[in-house]
Amino acid sequence: MDTILVLNAGSSSLKFQVFGIAGTNGLQRMVKGQIDGVGTSPRLRAMGPDKRPLVDRAYSPDEVPDLPAATHVAGAWLREAQGFELAAVGHRVVHGGPDYARPVRLDDLVLRHLERYIPLAPLHQPNNLAPIRTLIERRPDLPQVACFDTAFHRGHSAVADHYAIPERFYAEGVRRYGFHGLSYEYVSGCLRDIAPNIASGRVIVAHLGSGASMCALSEGRSVESTLGFTALDGLPMGTRCGQIDPGVILYLIAEKGMTAAQVQDLLYRECGLKGLSGISNDVRDLLKSDDARATFALDHFVYRIGLYAGTLAASLGGLDAFVFTAGIGENSAEIRARIVEKFGWLGAELDHAANAAGELMISSGASRIALLAVPTDEELMIARHTLNLIRADKMGRSGR
Ligand code: AMP
Repeated sequence: MDTILVLNAGSSSLKFQVFGIAGTNGLQRMVKGQIDGVGTSPRLRAMGPDKRPLVDRAYSPDEVPDLPAATHVAGAWLREAQGFELAAVGHRVVHGGPDYARPVRLDDLVLRHLERYIPLAPLHQPNNLAPIRTLIERRPDLPQVACFDTAFHRGHSAVADHYAIPERFYAEGVRRYGFHGLSYEYVSGCLRDIAPNIASGRVIVAHLGSGASMCALSEGRSVESTLGFTALDGLPMGTRCGQIDPGVILYLIAEKGMTAAQVQDLLYRECGLKGLSGISNDVRDLLKSDDARATFALDHFVYRIGLYAGTLAASLGGLDAFVFTAGIGENSAEIRARIVEKFGWLGAELDHAANAAGELMISSGASRIALLAVPTDEELMIARHTLNLIRADKMGRSGR
């Protein structure tokens, strides 16, 4: 069976999934794995569709010193141990800049374009691009597709896309891009399938995972996001600060003598739930803890989501549905209930039993706003895009 490999490369890990291409549109998840500790204590782990472990193997740092080596190790294991023949590779790429509003087939020229966006996402873009470069060099015949976290938001109006700073900065790329687009696109597609009347209305989707943001959808298209130029804005996250007065940054630099690198490290790694609680970035730990700081961190998280529910509802001119997704949104009935309480004034009312049971539809019959919890699947979204692009290319080449 032909397969599609989906790669999501981070700073010290390479996550991968393999999808079998079955029939006209069917994609079947076959393997989910990752190599962690790249360069320090590399370890390859993977499991099959039934969650059965397929491999758990440690490597020395010399064997897997960097992401190109990790790509090679994962590829060799998939080929030799699993016998997979790859038809294409789909990559998660954080930044498509102002130009890429949809996934793109990769070649040298596109890769060079994407390298121009490294200054816009210095922590993520170089890692995302490293396996692409490796595969272009080693497997030039293998079709590769880049899927962007920004693409789904590219239809935002100019008003929503701007910061109130001189236009020359906008021209050079300082814009409100928005992120988590693959997740929102997937959820928007699910809504179309499961509740078309809701999908055609005014919807807020809250992607609440270790990264967190909210997106306003009008007729299934993104019109506003809590994230902007980088993945730091909007909601407080596991370790990221969320919205902050730029004056705080000036204070840190001018009064505390912090360098840009130190400020970056603080804002990305030491803030959010971790910074506020001083305990953990994981909502499960905070829910279990009876420490007042844990309670406070969660109160703040829920409060900010409530504030943004109002903001995004304003961007839509009203609200028909609110959808929870990602690790916290899909799994924590308690956090969902506390958030719904915050925007109850908009006409939202929870069905507490359905919420506790983890059902898809969690609003009460009396609620004026439909409430849903929908599991996201960014990797499946990437596999679909990749399959569509390689099929379109094939049809193009055969002249049909
Ligand atoms: P994600 O980035 O979507 O994988 O989400 C990861 C985050 O989801 C973790 O850091 C946890 O904070 C959160 N999470 C996962 N499961 C639960 C749960 N059962 N209850 C609360 N939070 C959860």
